Formats: sequence, C-alpha cells, structure tokens
Amino acid sequence: MIRYCSKCIMPDSRPEQVFNGEGICDACVSAETKHGHIDWDARRAEMEDILADYRSDGSTYDCIIPVSGGKDSFFQSVTMRDTFGMNPLCVNHIPCEFTDVGWKNLLFLRDLGFDIVHVAGNRKAYREMVRIGFFKLGDCCWPEHIGIFTAPVRVAVQYRIPLLIWGENSQFEYGGPASKRGNNYLDRNWLEQFQMLGYRISDVVHDGMDLNDIKTFHYPTDEEIRDVGVTGLFLGYYIKWDSMKNAEAAIAAGWNRNPGGPVEGAYNDIENLDCKWIGGLHDYMKFIKFGYGRATDQLCIEIRAGRMSRDKAIVELKNSSEGTVPWKYVPDFLEYLNITEKEFVDNLDRFTNRRLFLCDDSGKLIKDKLGNLTRRFPIWDH
Ligand SMILES: [Zn+2]
Repeated sequence: MIRYCSKCIMPDSRPEQVFNGEGICDACVSAETKHGHIDWDARRAEMEDILADYRSDGSTYDCIIPVSGGKDSFFQSVTMRDTFGMNPLCVNHIPCEFTDVGWKNLLFLRDLGFDIVHVAGNRKAYREMVRIGFFKLGDCCWPEHIGIFTAPVRVAVQYRIPLLIWGENSQFEYGGPASKRGNNYLDRNWLEQFQMLGYRISDVVHDGMDLNDIKTFHYPTDEEIRDVGVTGLFLGYYIKWDSMKNAEAAIAAGWNRNPGGPVEGAYNDIENLDCKWIGGLHDYMKFIKFGYGRATDQLCIEIRAGRMSRDKAIVELKNSSEGTVPWKYVPDFLEYLNITEKEFVDNLDRFTNRRLFLCDDSGKLIKDKLGNLTRRFPIWDH
C-alpha cells in the first residue's frame, strides 16, 4: 500500500523517490538543505567565476538557454542576461502539439529581446515516436522529453557555443539518486538515465523507424562535445530555485497563465502550458502507473517552500482534478495518432496499475461514467 512522506504529500510509489528513516522523502530533505544549509552567496560567486570565462562582448552569443516558453525559461533567460550580463541564444524544441497560450508565451521571449532558434523535428517521424511512447512506454510525450535535451546540445555544437544553462536539477529539487542530487551539470548519462524510460534512441529501429528521420533526437557524439567543449550547468545549483517566484516575475512582465484556470489534473495554471498533452494526458498516465499526478507535484513544491501547510495541501489535492481523465485534448490526440477512442482507452487500461485501482470480479477496472478509475488507496490516509 502507498506510504506518504511525513512532511509533504508525495507517495513512495514515485519512481526513485527515497525515504529516510523518519519517513521523509529526499526532496523534502533537499528543501531543508536549500533553505537552510547552502551558502547561496558563495554559489553565486562560483557562477560568476565560471561565466567570466565565457562572457562575450555582445558581438556573439556566449550561452545557450533551452526554452519551452514557460515561466522557468523566462527566469533563466532574464537572469542570465540581466543579472549576469551574458548574451544568450534561446533554443526551443517544438513540442508534440503547441497550445495557443504556449506559442504566445514562447514568442513573448522575443518581445523581451531574446533571439530564438526553433528546432522542429519532422512531424511524420515525431508522430511515430509519440506512438511508441504512448503504446509501448506509457508516456505520450516521450519524444518531447528527449528533444528538449538533445536539441539545445546539437545547437551548441553547430553554433559552437559551449555553455548551456539548464534550469533546476530535478533530482535535487524533486528527489532521485543521491549520486545525482549534488550535480551541477547535465550530460548524456543524465539524459539516458532520467529521460528515456530505459528505451534508447537506437531501439526505435525495432519499431520500424529509420534513425536518419530523427536526427534532432540524436545526442551529439563525444568527439563533437569535446571539440566545442560543451558544458551544461544547472542554474538551480547556483541560484536558489523557486518555480512560483519565477512565475510571479514572468506574469509581472506580461507572460500568460493558462486561460481558464488550472491545467487538467494540475493544481496551478502556470506549468506545462506549451503542449496539448504534456499537461493533461502525460500526467494522467503517470497517475495510472504510480497513483499520483501533477497536482501532488505542485502542492509538494508549495509545502517545501513553506508556503502551504500539509493539511491545506491535502484539502487542495482533494479539490483538484488530479486523477480524472483529461478529455479536453483527447479528440486532438486521437486524430494525431489516427486511433479510435477504444484503442486509446484500452491502452490506458494496459498501463493502469491494478494494485492501485479497483477491478471487478472479472478483472475489469471499475470506472465511473467519465471513465475515471476507483482508487484502492484513500485519496488521503493518515
Ligand atoms: Zn516529502
């Protein structure tokens, strides 16, 4: 049965989450370190030292910022340019299917004075990768997770701009293997370990794909990386990361929240706005596999930042749409993959963890009229 962190509301069914002897998750331990034990002035000075070796006179770009157009992209770009005096080139990997607000927010970076390179893999091959992700790996946004990490590195090599500035170190912020929590850099090994779900790019040939059709997903070779001296740093290692503050700053500058309130399955309206199915469906697939979704993630961040009590978060979670089928973009998704609603639902059922959700005597998942599952675990049990 699911056990929850005693500080936040993260379940131990989250992959790679580690709980200590007192039942506290590693992300909460990191949060304590972040707010109490890290000398952020020293970290910032460390960053200044590094940047001094890369900063140009403005006639060339001196760092690459991978951007989705979200609140964190805003923060990374503005921080690098205005706080550290760098000359960034923003690189965007076009997601599966843009939302209107996502596209607007991405172009907003240009209004703020940033140049953007868009990397858009051909749509035929991309669609096949979505198909593999959805049917084989239980992740409808599998190519997106890869592309956002390969495209900027490829641009770094091609434009010969060695420094990449990523956002937060997600293992430190949200939990993961200790060996990666103290990391201040991102490399191929990190990508393969955390983003690929154990499926390598070269594996797609077994699904009938031609590797030459998915060049944007190939990580550059070690030789190319060495030749340019590509180094990727996590900004969150040097500057105290706070996604809510990033959002507030972005909104104050004119960036847009999700129109019409929280994204399906989420608690807030400021995250995962760019792609039609990274917000709803991707997180729903996480929910059916692991019993928690995006609202839990977001509420945990609020608890760890000291902005919300655990009791309040539990109430908010109950009031959120986490765990309900995100129907809004399902018609687009069916059309995109050219599949029927039955194929769609059957596949979700295949990935549903039957230890977490109730079945009837014949082994069929018990659902309500809208197709929502019945949890075996109480939404809150403590
Ligand atoms: Zn926790």
